Amino acid sequence: MKLTGNLLIGAKEVPASEGTMKALNPATNQLIEPDFAFGGGAQVDMAANLADEAFDHYSHTSLAERAAFLERIAANLDAVTPELAARAALETGLPEAQLQGEAAKAATQFRQFADVVRKGRFLQLAIDPAQPDRQPRPRMDHRLQKIAIGPVTVFGASNFPISYSVAGGDVASALAAGATVIVKAHNAHPGASEIQARAIRKAVQESGFPEGVFSMVRGGDNTIGEALVDHPLIKAVTFTGSEQGGMALYRRAQRRPDPIPVFTEMTSVNPTFILPQALAARGAQIGDGFAERMLVNVGQACLKPAILIAIEGTGFEALRGAMIKRVSDAPARPMLTPGIHAAYLSGLDQLHSAGAKAVVEGSVATADLQGQSALLEVDGQRVLNEPALAHEVFGPAALLLKVKDEAELLAVARAFRGQLSATLHLEDGDLELARHVLPVLERRTGRIVVNAFAHPQEVSFATIHGGPFPASSDSRFTSVGMTSIERFLRPITYQGFPDALLPEALRDLNPLGLPRSVDGQ
Ligand code: NAP
Repeated sequence: MKLTGNLLIGAKEVPASEGTMKALNPATNQLIEPDFAFGGGAQVDMAANLADEAFDHYSHTSLAERAAFLERIAANLDAVTPELAARAALETGLPEAQLQGEAAKAATQFRQFADVVRKGRFLQLAIDPAQPDRQPRPRMDHRLQKIAIGPVTVFGASNFPISYSVAGGDVASALAAGATVIVKAHNAHPGASEIQARAIRKAVQESGFPEGVFSMVRGGDNTIGEALVDHPLIKAVTFTGSEQGGMALYRRAQRRPDPIPVFTEMTSVNPTFILPQALAARGAQIGDGFAERMLVNVGQACLKPAILIAIEGTGFEALRGAMIKRVSDAPARPMLTPGIHAAYLSGLDQLHSAGAKAVVEGSVATADLQGQSALLEVDGQRVLNEPALAHEVFGPAALLLKVKDEAELLAVARAFRGQLSATLHLEDGDLELARHVLPVLERRTGRIVVNAFAHPQEVSFATIHGGPFPASSDSRFTSVGMTSIERFLRPITYQGFPDALLPEALRDLNPLGLPRSVDGQ
């Protein structure tokens, strides 16, 4: 596919209005052709109007039509996977084979959501039939279903250039809900973004849907993102990225005359607690596994285990030794963008200033944007006095946190902010302590893992990828998994409707054969 660099607004090819950029190959620090267009407020307005015009049609497509559309997107992604993975590898420095897997995962997500749409449970249909003879007053017929919230904006993530980007879970779940979508593509991978956007747009055309079902825009500074959040026709926003960026957009949306939900997925250190019996039995194995996961994607993963907490005692030196070995063997690899590389270096400086001590470093960087791996250590009391030590450093660094006893372990657990995940390594003899730690973690995280690592992420019905602030801006929802569709739905009640006017799913004879609750049963 020849990349044009245009903004893809509905079916339109929109050239630059606010300048252009080229992609950067972070492995060579060289720019790659072609020029990619930046747009501004006018292009956001064009995309939002198209998304609004398309909404009534698209949100009323049958479940079968919508599911077929999602499957077309999956097939179109399959068809471009080799060139998508190759381009994404050039733009991110991540291995091409890994990106082929990411493309397959993205296509699978669309297929999974097609299945969710066909089954119709997400509509959460509820019927409370009329009770004309009820005393002291009759009850009218009430019927509830979930409908799409309106046109939505998705900010693509930088770190997973396919499965959290233009063809990622946010877009799949929003389209499954019946929402029309405008993606703000991340400038870290513009070519990969264009390939994905064209695959989605082709499916819109093949399905005969209005062009405004999907658009992709790009900008050179914050103005395009601000225009998207401010636009009165946009009714919800999703974001994956920094706490600073996510909260700026969240606050902006709350200042609108009509505030809208902004679902941000921001920051997490995914604390990993090794309880004493597990430390004694498997210290080296856990230390090695932890460090291996910490290094995946050059540490640029939301589920990177960044802090390991263990009580000093039997097994501690074996744990520490295994971590040292794995980290010291790690080659320096290119990070995603110059900004992320610079943030990594300054994050390491901040950890050192806050009192963390260097334990070991990986191979020295031999090119500009390579991230050198690092293991640091600190004791529990220091973390209790210096909250900055428990903040995320995005990149291949981890902190080994030594606590003196169970009481200090619990105090440290209480000091963490909200997390996407927390992990406990335990043996039978640790269950009593685990029962004390669990309530502390439940209040602070969206997912608790036992005797494994939180990464990689499943995409399933029981998946939660979210958590209390600052892991996300709304701990009631997930950004990954089948229930992520709920971010784009709202309930509506139809009261006293004639059967013929009701949405099909709510009609008396249940023509779609969907699961429905009747009078709460
Ligand atoms: P980012 O700087 O927060 O940017 C994410 C997206 O939001 C980009 O498209 C960016 O546009 C836009 N944006 C950010 N702030 C904005 C604002 N105030 N107004 C309008 N638009 C705004 O995140 P990033 O580029 O992915 O990486 C930077 C840092 O994010 C990393 O160092 C890491 O700390 C964090 N991160 C965390 C996760 C996670 O899952 N925990 C994932 C990825 C990144 P521009 O690029 O045009 O500014």
